[in-house]
Amino acid sequence: MPTPIITDGSMDRLVRAPKVVLPKDQGLFAERASRFDQLAAESSGMGDYMRLLAQVCRAQSAAFKARTAHSVSERAIANSREHGMPPLSAHVFPRDESWHIDLRDIVAAVQQDAGAMTPEVTATLKELGTLAETDHESLDAIADRLIAGDSLVEDGSSIPFVGAALQVYFTRLASTLKADSVSNCDVASVCPCCGMRPTASLVRIDPDRLNYRYLVCSLCMTEWNMERVRCSSCESEKDVAYMAIESNDKPGLGQAVSAETCDSCKTYLKIFSQEKDALVDPIADDLNSLALDLLVDEKGYARTGPNLLFYPGHV
Ligand SMILES: [Zn+2]
Ligand SMILES: [Zn+2]
Repeated sequence: MPTPIITDGSMDRLVRAPKVVLPKDQGLFAERASRFDQLAAESSGMGDYMRLLAQVCRAQSAAFKARTAHSVSERAIANSREHGMPPLSAHVFPRDESWHIDLRDIVAAVQQDAGAMTPEVTATLKELGTLAETDHESLDAIADRLIAGDSLVEDGSSIPFVGAALQVYFTRLASTLKADSVSNCDVASVCPCCGMRPTASLVRIDPDRLNYRYLVCSLCMTEWNMERVRCSSCESEKDVAYMAIESNDKPGLGQAVSAETCDSCKTYLKIFSQEKDALVDPIADDLNSLALDLLVDEKGYARTGPNLLFYPGHV
């Protein structure tokens, strides 16, 4: 009679936890809007900023549901698999005009909905609305620069809205893919689906991903697993440390948000813990913890991943 193999279940969990999780939940942007609302209500100095971003996310949710994506061709997927490249490589992917329509819709919804907008936001929305109707070339140039990380100073006030539209467009495309189409990309520091850097990482509490760390794409919302205590940029395990801001009036918040720093490459990325705060959102809570960026920046670490809703100079 063969000896039964008894395990503690940890290997089973290792097999089951998915390497890549594509976005498929249509509630993703609506949940983010709720989180921004919550942060706005709790914020002492950034309430208006958080409320504006809540409106942007609500507009993203509506735009996401308004259209379906053309599925990515089998040939493009086979090509990317053969070359170990992400199937939606954002830097070269030929975007179609539906992202302009997403932008137009987002601009119109925020214009309708946002109560106390600053004159600058009002002017930006007006200008973007016009560009979305008449000048796609200029819009695509802003988008290309944002994706490349080369935004100009004059792009500044457009970024959260252009970023929001690009997120909707690429998230919709990513949601049409199957996980086995994207798991072949072996550069762990960029999104296996679109090749962009993550905004942050998230330690999850879902039953099939309990305590696993996932990097969250700044563009297409795909999540991919990376072991904890490993630099998400150079993949070193040696010189990783954590920094957080302790808050007296909100005990525990500092632990839900920390910066994972690496002394090998002198970079950092934030890491959020759902165990400490189940509602934490990598995009919203990132913008709610900019003080941590300042602190880590002062210590000489450079941030590796963008937040496409970040509004330079607005806060
Ligand atoms: Zn991505
Ligand atoms: Zn590193």
